[in-house]
Amino acid sequence: MTRIGPLLALTLALLTLLRQDAEPAQHSTAVLLVVLAVAHWQPERVWRRRAWLLGSLLLVMLLVMASYLLPEYWLSIAHWNAWLSALPGDAANAYRWRPPALMTLALLLLAASLQLNLRLALGAPLLLTLSGLALLTQALDQQWATSIWVLDHAASPSLLAAAGCLLTVQASLLVQRRREQLPRLRRPLLAGLAVSVAALLFWHQQTTLEDRRQYHVSAVNSQALAEDFERENAEHLAAMRRFVSFWELYDAPPSEAAWARQAGRYHQDYRYFLNIAFIMPTSEITRVYPLAGNENALGARLFDDQPAGRTALSEALIHGREGSTGAIDLLQGVPGIIHYLPVHNSANDEILGATAMVVSLPALLDTLFDGIDTRAQALRLYAGEQLLAGVGSLDDRVNWRHRFSIDVGGQPLLLDALPGRSALLMQRARLPEVGLLVGLTLAYLLYLVLFAYQRLAGQHRATHHTNQELRREVQARSILQREVEWMARHDELTELPNRRLFMETLDANAERHPLSVLICDVDHFKRINDHLGHLAGDRYLRQIAEIGREVIGQQGLFARYGGEEFVACLPGVDAECAEQLAERLRQAVHQADLHHHDGQRLSISIGIATQIQGTLDIGQLMQVADEALYVAKAGGRNRVVNGRPLTLSDDTHGQLSPR
Ligand code: GH3
Ligand code: MG
Ligand code: MG
Repeated sequence: MTRIGPLLALTLALLTLLRQDAEPAQHSTAVLLVVLAVAHWQPERVWRRRAWLLGSLLLVMLLVMASYLLPEYWLSIAHWNAWLSALPGDAANAYRWRPPALMTLALLLLAASLQLNLRLALGAPLLLTLSGLALLTQALDQQWATSIWVLDHAASPSLLAAAGCLLTVQASLLVQRRREQLPRLRRPLLAGLAVSVAALLFWHQQTTLEDRRQYHVSAVNSQALAEDFERENAEHLAAMRRFVSFWELYDAPPSEAAWARQAGRYHQDYRYFLNIAFIMPTSEITRVYPLAGNENALGARLFDDQPAGRTALSEALIHGREGSTGAIDLLQGVPGIIHYLPVHNSANDEILGATAMVVSLPALLDTLFDGIDTRAQALRLYAGEQLLAGVGSLDDRVNWRHRFSIDVGGQPLLLDALPGRSALLMQRARLPEVGLLVGLTLAYLLYLVLFAYQRLAGQHRATHHTNQELRREVQARSILQREVEWMARHDELTELPNRRLFMETLDANAERHPLSVLICDVDHFKRINDHLGHLAGDRYLRQIAEIGREVIGQQGLFARYGGEEFVACLPGVDAECAEQLAERLRQAVHQADLHHHDGQRLSISIGIATQIQGTLDIGQLMQVADEALYVAKAGGRNRVVNGRPLTLSDDTHGQLSPR
C-alpha cells in the first residue's frame, strides 16, 4: 500500500493536470497533490529532503487557508490579482486558481501528520481523522446543492480519490507501526472527533445561512432594478403621450423648428431616446430629433425600410392606436424599441401621422444602471434567446442568476442579474471559516491533553503495579528467609533444634551453673533400618523426638545431634535432676510403642555430663557425656550413665556411674 497509494494519487493528480477542461482551481489542487504524493513515497523512510518538501508545501497551504480566513476588505482578491497580472488571460484571476477550502484543509492535515512522522503524542491520528472528515464532507457536498455557495469548498471526485489514497497510506502505516498503542487512542480520538464534527456542522450551517442571506439580498436588489426598468419605461411613455397631445392642438404636422424645440426638451430628459420622429401617414419620416446621427432616417419610408416595425406602425397610422415594436434591430444598428403614438386632428379625428419614440436598449440600460457597480452586478437584457444589451463583465461571477420578466410596451423582455463574486466576498462574513478553524484547534488541543493524561495515568498504573509486585516479592523473600533461618537451626525430619542451635544454646548458657547435657543414642537402630526399612526408621526417629520434647519440656532444649543421636541442654539442672530426667526419657522411649522386627522394645542409652562451676568448655563437656554414653553402651545399653561433674576446665575424667 505504501507504494501503490502514492503512485495512484500521483496518477490521478497528473490526469487532472492534463485535462484541458478542468478548472484552474482543480489544476492547482492537483499540483499540491503531486507534491504530497511524492512526499508520501516510501513514507517509512524519513529523509531530509522530504521534510523540506513538506515544509514548503505546508507553508503554501497555510497561505491559501489564510486567504480564506482574511476578510476580503482587508486583502481583496484584487490585490492577489494585481500580483498575478503578469500571467496570461484567465490566469490573472486569483480566485479561480485558489484550491478549494476543504480540500486545502484536508491536504494540510495530511502533510502535517506526515511531517510529524505519525507520532501519537503530537496528534497525528487526529489530524488524519480530521483530514478524512474534510474529504468526506466534500464528497457529501457534491451530493448537496452547492450551486448557491459563494466559496468553493470541494475538489473534483478524482482529486478526492487521490487524497483518499494518501490518507489510506498514512492510516495503514499508523496501524502497522503503533498497533499495540491503538487502544490508548480511543478516548482522546473520540473526544477530538466529537468536537471536530460539531465544528464542521457549525461551519456548514453558518456557510449555508450566510450564502442564503447573500442570495436573498442580491435577489431583492435585482428585483428592485427590474421594477425601476419597468417604471422608467412607463414614465417615458406617459411623457410621450403628453408630447403627442401637444401636436394634436396644432391640427397639423409640426414645423421643423417647433419639432426641434419641443422634441429637444424630451430628448434632454430621456437621453436613451435615439430619436423622436414624426411620421406621415405614408410612413415617411419627415421630422427627426436630433438630426445628428439620424440623417439616414430622415425621408425613410418605414413600411419599406423597417419591416420589423410595420405592424406597430400600422397600428398607429391606420387604426389610430399606440403601437410598440418590441425589441428590434434599429436602423442605427443597435437593438431598441420603437413606440408609435398616433397624432389626430382634434377637429375631425383624422390621423395626421404618428410620433415615433426610438429607445436604444443599451442606452436605456446604461442610464438605468448608471449608479450600479458593474463589479457587484452584471446585467443582461434578453428578448427570448436574443441578447439585447448588457452591463458588467461575466468574469468572476458566482453561479447565481436572478431572472425577471419585464413588460416593455406589451412585449416581455428578460432581465438577468448576475452578482459579482468580489462584491459578495467583500460583504461575506468569515465567521463560518473562523469558527471551523477554532473548533478544529480546540479538538486538537483536547486530543493532546487527553492523550498526555492517559499516558501519565498509564505510567502511574505501571508504577503502582511494579510497587505491588515488589512488595509481594519482599514478602515472599522474607518468608523464605525465615524458612532458611529455621532450617539452619532445626532438623527437617523431626523439626527439633539441630546441632547448631544446641551448641548456640549451650554457649548462651555458659554462665549458668549447674549446666547439664544429655547425649542419647538409640540402641541397635541399624537393625530397624535393615529390617523395617528407612521409612520406618524415620518414623521411629520422629516419635523419639516427640517423646524427648515432651519429657524435657521447659527444663531445657531437646535437639537432634545427628543420625539417631539426640542431645538435651539443661541449664540450671544439676547432675541429679539431669539423671532423673534422663531416666524418665529412657523409660518413656522404652514404654512407647516402638519395637524391633522381633518384637523387642526399642531402647536408648543416655550419657550425662554436668558443669557445676568454672568456665565452660563445650568440647570437654560433650566429651564427658559421650564417654558416659559409651559406658552405657558398653554396660549393656538401655541405661543412663552420669559422667563426672565438671568444676574446672581440666581434662581429668570423673567416675562414671551407670544405671
Ligand atoms: P548401637 O548404637 O546400639 O551400637 O547400634 P546402632 O545400630 O544404633 O549403631 P550405629 O550408631 O552405628 O547406627 C546408626 C544407624 O542409624 C546408622 C544409620 O543407618 C541410621 N541412621 C542415621 N540417621 C538416620 C536417619 O535419619 N534415618 C534413618 N532411617 N536411619 C538413620
Ligand atoms: Mg549412634
Ligand atoms: Mg545407636
